[in-house]
Amino acid sequence: MTTVEAVDARVEFRTRSGRVATALDGANLVVRPGEIVALVGESGSGKTTLARALVGLQPLAGGQVRRDGSPLDYAPTALRAFRRRVQLVLQDPAGALNPRHTVYESVAEGMRLHRLATDDPEGSEVHLVSAALAAAGLRPPEALFLRYPHELSGGQRQRVLIAGALALRPEILIADEPVSSLDASIRGEVLALLLALRESMGLGVLVVTHDLGLAWNIADRIAVMYLGRIVETGPTEDVLRHPRHPYTQALLSVVPEMDSLTPVVLTGEIPDPTRIPSGCRFHPRCPALADGRAAAVAERCRAESLPVLSGQAVLVEEPGWHGVACHLHPERA
Ligand code: SF4
Repeated sequence: MTTVEAVDARVEFRTRSGRVATALDGANLVVRPGEIVALVGESGSGKTTLARALVGLQPLAGGQVRRDGSPLDYAPTALRAFRRRVQLVLQDPAGALNPRHTVYESVAEGMRLHRLATDDPEGSEVHLVSAALAAAGLRPPEALFLRYPHELSGGQRQRVLIAGALALRPEILIADEPVSSLDASIRGEVLALLLALRESMGLGVLVVTHDLGLAWNIADRIAVMYLGRIVETGPTEDVLRHPRHPYTQALLSVVPEMDSLTPVVLTGEIPDPTRIPSGCRFHPRCPALADGRAAAVAERCRAESLPVLSGQAVLVEEPGWHGVACHLHPERA
C-alpha cells in the first residue's frame, strides 16, 4: 500500500509585478494507508497547493514528494501510474463534473484513460462503473447511469466524484474541501462514506478543510497550516483537546461545538506570501503576543524564525508525536 509524503516542500509563484510568492515554505506531511489526516487552515494558508503537490500536479521549487520513501518520478508515464494510486477529489462538485457528461461517462472517463476494463464480465467497464457507484453509496447504480449533474443533489454529485476516483482503485484519496458546499445532513453522509471506505478498502485519506469541527469528526491525525508551513501537528484528539499553537487555539475557539471556549477573532488576513513576516510568521496576528501571554518570548517572536516541523517524526520516530512551531513551546518543535 502506498505512503505519500511531502518533505520540505517548497512552491513559489511569480506574481504579475515580478515578486516571488512563497506558497509552500518547507511543508512536511505524510499520508499513510488506512489513516485519515486532516489538513486545516484558513483560505490562503497553502493547503490546496500542498494537496496538489502531493499528487504531482504542482511542481516544487525545493524539497520532494515521495512515494514509499522514493522521490516521485515526474515523467508522464510514471506520473500517470502514480495518480491512479493517489487520487485527488476536487471541491465544488458542480464545477468539477462536466455538465454534458452523464454519471456513467464521468465515472468511466478515468478508467478509459488507464485502460482498466477487461473482457472478463467482472472486469467489464459497466461492471466497474456500477461497483464504483455502489462503493460511493449510490444505489442502485444503474438508476443513475444516464443522469446529468444538474439532475443530481449536491451530495450525489460529491459521491459521483468520489466514485470516479474509486473506479481507479486508489490507495490514497486526497479530498479538497469535500463537504464545504453541502448541507449539514449530507455532509454527515459524505464523511461517513469516507470513514467506511477507510474501513472497507484500507484507503488513506487526506481531507483538506478550513473546518476544524470536520477534522475532529473524521481525522486520526491533524496538521494545521499557516502561510505555507505546518505549525501544529499530531493525533487529532491530542491537538484539539490540548492545542498549543495560538493559531490552532483561535481556529478552535470559533468551532460551534466548542461553545465553552471564548471565541478569539483573528485580526487581519493571512499576509501576502510575497512578504512573509520575519520571526514567527504568525506574529502580526498572534493573540498570545497581543494579550501579553507571550511577553517572555516577544523579541524572539518578532525576530527568530522557527524550525520546520518534521514529517519524519510522524512517520517513524514517534507515531503519537504532537509538534508545534511556537517559541512558547520550544521543546515540541
Ligand atoms: S512564536 Fe510567538 S508569535 Fe508565534 S505563535 Fe508563538 S507566541 Fe505567537
